[in-house]
Amino acid sequence: MGHFDILIIGGGAAGIAAARAAADAGCKSIALVERKQKLGGILLQCSHPGFGAGLTGGEYAAALVQDFPETVTLFFGTTVLLVEPNKTAHLSGDRQISFSQLILATGSREIPLGALPIAGTRPKGVYTAGQMQEMMNLHGFVPQGPVVILGSGDIGLIMASQIAAMGISVTLVEQKENCGGLTRNRRCLKDNSIRLICSQTIDAVEGSPALTGCCLSGGEKIACRTFLIAAGLVPERGLLAELGMPSWLQMCGNCNTVYPMAEGVTADGRKAGIAAFQKIRGKL
Ligand SMILES: Cc1cc2nc3c(=O)[nH]c(=O)nc-3n(C[C@H](O)[C@H](O)[C@H](O)COP(=O)(O)OP(=O)(O)OC[C@H]3O[C@@H](n4cnc5c(N)ncnc54)[C@H](O)[C@@H]3O)c2cc1C
Repeated sequence: MGHFDILIIGGGAAGIAAARAAADAGCKSIALVERKQKLGGILLQCSHPGFGAGLTGGEYAAALVQDFPETVTLFFGTTVLLVEPNKTAHLSGDRQISFSQLILATGSREIPLGALPIAGTRPKGVYTAGQMQEMMNLHGFVPQGPVVILGSGDIGLIMASQIAAMGISVTLVEQKENCGGLTRNRRCLKDNSIRLICSQTIDAVEGSPALTGCCLSGGEKIACRTFLIAAGLVPERGLLAELGMPSWLQMCGNCNTVYPMAEGVTADGRKAGIAAFQKIRGKL
């Protein structure tokens, strides 16, 4: 079993920034564990510009990892399964790491169909918006139209815009009175002739085994073959279930607070990396 001064779980913008900041401050014993085979997290599936100075998510991630400190030991394709109060992390592949300080940078998870009061079975063709973004942008998947999207925040708008630009009919349903999201993302509605229905939600999905339509709370039925849920993000803190908030733990990025912009995530990551190293030096 290896020991590291700082263990960082999650290699998205927050985890990368935390590792860099701790290494720059002088820490020579850092492990960063990432479930996927690459650093970047959610950034890697964002092909739209809007990160930093007009970069795509992928370009922003590439800038973050440029000249990444060699003193950080990277564990790719590795999931942290459990963290014990005795400061031991259990990794996939039956490995363990002990640590002095832990930085949780596990991001957020999307609210799925099963967590919403939507009647009906669970037919084929229902996804969260982020799942579809990953399938389309990283695996070349093309959704079947017509498409209904629930939630007009930035993720809903970005997906609506991308799918409509492929010539697929998209209806966006928003339970609030007005469309959410940044002005720059709202522009896509007009540009791509996307139908927006406000002050309504989806009450039920129909079809078996595949989706045939969505029922609106106002009574209208919309025929569709794909339904995307963009109903919000929840910080991913499952690993803390048995731990609470011990003094040797820092949280950063979307697992701390769901940030609208990547810059906020990176700044939070940096803060966590420096705080963890200061604790090791007994300065905090
Ligand atoms: C669709 C979408 C569009 C966005 N658009 C913009 C935009 O235009 N401009 C902008 O500035 N920001 C945008 N953002 C926000 C920004 O991209 C994110 O807030 C930020 O990238 C999140 O970084 P993170 O490190 O907190 O989380 P994530 O990127 O989610 O990283 C968490 C990482 O932890 C790993 N992980 C989780 N659990 C474990 C475990 N147990 N073991 C090992 N690894 C684990 C995951 O694999 C993942 O790589 C967007 C976000 C989304 C979802």
